[in-house]
Amino acid sequence: MDIDFECTMCGKCCHDLRLPLTVKEAFAWLERGDNVQIMCEALPWLEEPPADNLQAAHKRRRSFAAMSGSLPTRVVAILAATHAGPCPNLQPDMRCGIYEQRPLVCRIYPAEINPFIELTPTHKACPPEAWTPGLPPLLRAGKLIDADTFALIQQSRESDENDLAIKQQVCALLGIDQAAVSNEGFVAHSPDPIDLLAALLLASNERTALTQPPTWRFVSNRQTTVDALVSVGALGSLVEANSPVGFEYLGFSAASE
Ligand code: SF4
Ligand code: SF4
Repeated sequence: MDIDFECTMCGKCCHDLRLPLTVKEAFAWLERGDNVQIMCEALPWLEEPPADNLQAAHKRRRSFAAMSGSLPTRVVAILAATHAGPCPNLQPDMRCGIYEQRPLVCRIYPAEINPFIELTPTHKACPPEAWTPGLPPLLRAGKLIDADTFALIQQSRESDENDLAIKQQVCALLGIDQAAVSNEGFVAHSPDPIDLLAALLLASNERTALTQPPTWRFVSNRQTTVDALVSVGALGSLVEANSPVGFEYLGFSAASE
């Protein structure tokens, strides 16, 4: 697949955000007085996968080890700038007000960071004219050919890995221990921004002793998922619509039995 692309500066991708941030970017986002959530997903991890299982290696690189009851588990925690409507940094002329400091994910869009997700123009906010053939080449035979974007994606993946210990510690410090089941959705936690900033600072301080990781709880909107996890020793809870759970459950599909 060949894709040509040029940004039209329509600003659509700067609305209704859930932007994954590195730890450094989360500090800057919070210090500007804007919102950051922690989005968590987890998956059972009974044994290390073979080295040639590239999808598992990708999950492993982005996750930290934990326990859920007696079940070995890995947890992905994403710091996410979350805003309904326009990004707080978007200017009336649709230019970015922090262009030189904008997060990596903003520099990479509309390319995909996840190597297992194919870039699909119709899944992106960009208008059709941004994908007109003859514009600068982005993909050739399905491969990203823009060297700058490629380097930014590498940087983003490295940050995912380098930030893991800090994110694990931040979750422990804030008492965050509930995650959606991987591929079913996310649990979005919304800590007080001042508490999150303090936890990020403490966790980033190398002299801070690592807090013991808590036992994590899987959360699902499917009873069958909860039952299956509990049957193998995990902690699991069913999340029901409008129940006061203290987090937002972002399911990929409707609740079922
Ligand atoms: S930081 Fe800038 S580029 Fe990123 S979403 Fe906000 S306005 Fe858009
Ligand atoms: S939605 Fe696409 S075309 Fe519009 S500003 Fe964002 S990257 Fe550019």
